[in-house]
Amino acid sequence: MNTWQLFKDGKWRPARSGQTYEVTNPANGEVVAVAASGDAEDAADAVRAAEAAFSAWAATPAKERAELLERLAALLEEDSEELARLITLEMGKPLAEARGEVKISADYLRWNAGEGVRAYGQMIPPPAGDKRLLTLRQPVGPVAAITPWNFPLSMVARKLGPALAAGCTVVLKPAGQTPGPAVRFCELAARAGIPDGVINLVTGPSSPIGDTLLQEEAIRKITFTGSTAVGKQLMAQAAEQVKRVSMELGGHAPLLVFEDADLDAAVAGAVSSKFRNSGQTCICANRIYVQASIAEAFTQKFKAKVDELVVGDGLQEETTIGPLINADAVDKVQEQVQDALDKGAKLIKGGRRSDREGNFYEPTVLADVDESMTITTEETFGPVAPIYVFETEEEAIAKANATPYGLAAYYYTRDLARSIRVYEGLQYGIIGCNDAVPTTAEAPFGGFKESGIGREGGPGSIDDFLETKFVSIAI
Ligand code: NAP
Repeated sequence: MNTWQLFKDGKWRPARSGQTYEVTNPANGEVVAVAASGDAEDAADAVRAAEAAFSAWAATPAKERAELLERLAALLEEDSEELARLITLEMGKPLAEARGEVKISADYLRWNAGEGVRAYGQMIPPPAGDKRLLTLRQPVGPVAAITPWNFPLSMVARKLGPALAAGCTVVLKPAGQTPGPAVRFCELAARAGIPDGVINLVTGPSSPIGDTLLQEEAIRKITFTGSTAVGKQLMAQAAEQVKRVSMELGGHAPLLVFEDADLDAAVAGAVSSKFRNSGQTCICANRIYVQASIAEAFTQKFKAKVDELVVGDGLQEETTIGPLINADAVDKVQEQVQDALDKGAKLIKGGRRSDREGNFYEPTVLADVDESMTITTEETFGPVAPIYVFETEEEAIAKANATPYGLAAYYYTRDLARSIRVYEGLQYGIIGCNDAVPTTAEAPFGGFKESGIGREGGPGSIDDFLETKFVSIAI
């Protein structure tokens, strides 16, 4: 069994209170780790360490910081098999997906290392000959990073990569259910040579730790990935001291299939987007809109493809659908499905908890779904695919946009003019056109509307961790 401690100023320590909590495997309920249960004092210690380490780290040449991040990326890759097992053990996703998560984590570190060495300022043509105007870019200061359980390693890398490349120090609070990959990340960061105090980690109950991170004046920015409800609360707290915020929040992605689409590609894309991570991603295709003339054919092919999914423990190589994170998540999925069935949806497949022990839910397909059902309005975090029918392109775009979320949207068509109209009309930060897997370290990731503020990855990924300082020199 693993033992996870707090990481403060380069030292591994139990919580000040000595308290711990158990981390369980969602596939079978077994205790797989005991983690330190830090509190407000532990969080304050971590902030002091991040504050003390800030000046030296900010002054470290960007090239040296980049080299350390490159070294850390290489260590993640060397440790890939062990890290992947840890991800699967604590959050349940199939091993193949966990390996992919390790890979993209290394990609985020390398991408941001490259961005850090190109954080240029400007020389501005002055309006008068006796002045010189310039801007430089400096790290915002120590940063608090709060990450979710569904990508317990890559969300850490996607936040700490840009923060560290920009010259910020960090206090990290990972999700309670999945501390292991974050702990391992810190161990490897120390081995890569990232100095003491630059990364600090506090595990434990979210409120006392989160409140402290928000109240501490030394913390100048909060970068958060998680639910929209918690994100709003953190934004309100951050407003007290006008801390900078980056928010990667919930999603409720539509996937539109037009009658001119390559049907097999659309079916394969819809299944892969919907059922990845057992439907527990913020960019999962949660609402599948199909044009009326192909709805029947799509539904049949879609069901046939879903029949091929293999439910099981993620540690078994053949598994493609792991457990949900906990019993509450299974209950929430069941409530959404029951609500849809009560209001007239047609059950094509699944629709119930799995007979297996653990938090498993059968891959589910619903047809005849409409706007009266909660599955249409609330984020679904489970393996349930609701299929809707539309008649016109305008109707499809309007329905896709009829949500407070605006993270990811997908569509399938072979008509170029339609394609342009659709991507221009969708109110989403990430669009997959005939592409169910748009996420990559080289491209910006983030949402419109209540899906968040800011972008992670892509050109400018470190911008949110830098302040622009303007200097006017009279000569
Ligand atoms: P969550 O409940 O909002 O938790 C996310 C993180 O916030 C966890 O570390 C959690 O700690 C912490 N937290 C909860 N309440 C807090 C508080 N009052 N103060 C400080 N921290 C607090 O979300 P989740 O269930 O872990 O993750 C799923 C959600 O994340 C979904 O809505 C999904 O769409 C979203 N998500 C978005 C993206 C994106 O990039 N846009 C990516 C992945 C996931 P504890 O675990 O200890 O409670």
